[in-house]
Amino acid sequence: MPTTKATRRVEGEFDYIIVGAGTAGCVLANRLTEDPEIQVLLLEAGGKDDYHWIHVPVGYLYCIGNPRTDWLYKTQPEPGLNGRSLSYPRGRVLGGSSSINGMIYMRGQREDYDEWARITNDASWSWTSVLPIFKRSEDHYAGASESHGAGGPWRVEKQRLKWKILEEFSKAAQQTGIPATDDFNRGDNTGVGYFDVNQKRGIRWSASKAFLRPVLKRPNLTIITGAHTQRVVFEGRRCTGVEYRGDHTDYLANARCEVILSSGAVNSPQLLELSGIGNGARLQNLGIEVVRDLRGVGENLQDHLQLRMAYKVDGVRTLNTASAHWWGKLMIGMQYALFQSGPMSMSPSQLGAFAKSDPDDRSLTRPDLEYHVQPLSLDRFGEPLHRFNAFTASVCQLRPTSRGSIHIESADASAPPLIAPNYLSTDYDRRVAANALRLTRRIAAAPALARYRPQEILPGVQFQTEEELQQAAGAVGTTIFHPVGTCRMGLSDDPGAVVDNRLRVIGVDGLRVVDASVMPTITSGNTNSPTLMIAERASDMIREDRRTRVAGNAVTQTNASPSMSAV
Ligand SMILES: Cc1cc2nc3c(=O)[nH]c(=O)nc-3n(C[C@H](O)[C@H](O)[C@H](O)COP(=O)(O)OP(=O)(O)OC[C@H]3O[C@@H](n4cnc5c(N)ncnc54)[C@H](O)[C@@H]3O)c2cc1C
Repeated sequence: MPTTKATRRVEGEFDYIIVGAGTAGCVLANRLTEDPEIQVLLLEAGGKDDYHWIHVPVGYLYCIGNPRTDWLYKTQPEPGLNGRSLSYPRGRVLGGSSSINGMIYMRGQREDYDEWARITNDASWSWTSVLPIFKRSEDHYAGASESHGAGGPWRVEKQRLKWKILEEFSKAAQQTGIPATDDFNRGDNTGVGYFDVNQKRGIRWSASKAFLRPVLKRPNLTIITGAHTQRVVFEGRRCTGVEYRGDHTDYLANARCEVILSSGAVNSPQLLELSGIGNGARLQNLGIEVVRDLRGVGENLQDHLQLRMAYKVDGVRTLNTASAHWWGKLMIGMQYALFQSGPMSMSPSQLGAFAKSDPDDRSLTRPDLEYHVQPLSLDRFGEPLHRFNAFTASVCQLRPTSRGSIHIESADASAPPLIAPNYLSTDYDRRVAANALRLTRRIAAAPALARYRPQEILPGVQFQTEEELQQAAGAVGTTIFHPVGTCRMGLSDDPGAVVDNRLRVIGVDGLRVVDASVMPTITSGNTNSPTLMIAERASDMIREDRRTRVAGNAVTQTNASPSMSAV
């Protein structure tokens, strides 16, 4: 890729360039620079994570939709959502989306990873193989055990609040047959209980805090913020560096070994397409020279669609009224200032439940629904809370069959990509959505909640038939912020695969993708810690490949050629 006259060469030589200091990028920067021989450049388009609302958990609400921390993306109008276009938040700051997310610690289900192992024909992606990696990162509040790790950078704590309405929801869920659980992270997340969170004493524990801050002084790590990578640079099929823009100047940085895209499920496919890797015809139409025709780039978008159901209740206090007056707000503020506990110590979703959408369906062997239950209600995100007591039960289908896409519309790197999640585009997903709304109604009608006379205010009791419920799902559905799969992992001869089982971009040298975009199928739960695990594994692979090269042994690859061979 030719560089323009104004392009400046970045001083210094780097072995690896990581694009994006989000969940995955922070882990990689830490693990790769453990070896003092490895020089790493970490580029982040956003700024430093010095905004106070990143750190106070409730500040989640002020980071989403804020240009200081969010890319401010929007989806296309979605046919399955009755033509609505959604805000699609993505972190744009050190820590990436882990700096603005809901902090829920969730690994997913054993079968998710066994499926990845099947798709890649690589047992090292199975649950049994990835569990030690999850444990290696972890610092669990209960210490080390068969399921959990201690002493790692990734702190996991219990929440520092309790709400009566959430306790009652939990009892009601149990009365409908969902068992209680005190740990969603043993590989089977069936049950109802409080989520565990990535926090330290009531303060957000992002990937940046866990993995980047402790190593900022390493001389072999260079971090540049405000560095918007425009494209990856190739010599023939070998990736040699990146071009990025910062301070209105274009820079070129060279990578001796590899460039690693960790720009997230929206921006990694965007960068590949801008760099000539993607569907050849699409790229040619935009005037982009094709380096490698890979039609899977930007396809296979999967996300969790949350269906928010809100219930007005009598005789029990929720955040709506507890924070309605100045003295209530003062009490909440004092509770956080003095003890780092109470409503400010968490994002809205506090209680969780995993259940089957159709308990009579014998083919459904594990939960396919996740609940995020909130002691509050509002009409739309960003609007004021209702003035009456109410709770919200948001339910999402864990393994949707709908597939969307993310593609560039122009060769201009500053133009947002076209995001089309294509929610509720299959009959199956629409049926699951209707069943999810029915199950929520059963929970609301169970004795523990019935005594508070719950009145459904969202979507509303007027929706009753199968057709009406499916329509209601389209009316209330919104993202729960888990896009994955747009650079999916697979076998090198799988036409839809973008990276191989070692996360190398198929058909070129010296380029990997390491972030949520490589998941071939979405995990059955929140996606942050699975992404972190992927980056931990990738750091092992990258260092293994480097050791192999240094030892002079050729690395046998099914890829076009060894990723390190031309270094
Ligand atoms: C609002 C919200 C709430 C969520 N809640 C939870 C939760 O409670 N629990 C959970 O498990 N998951 C949650 N998630 C999902 C989880 O945070 C993500 O799955 C995870 O952070 C993805 O990590 P990543 O490394 O793939 O991408 P990201 O963390 O998004 O990192 C990508 C980074 O790359 C940078 N970047 C992008 N393009 C460029 C470029 N061209 N040049 C330079 N830098 C670039 C971005 O600015 C960003 O810093 C939530 C996400 C959001 C947005």
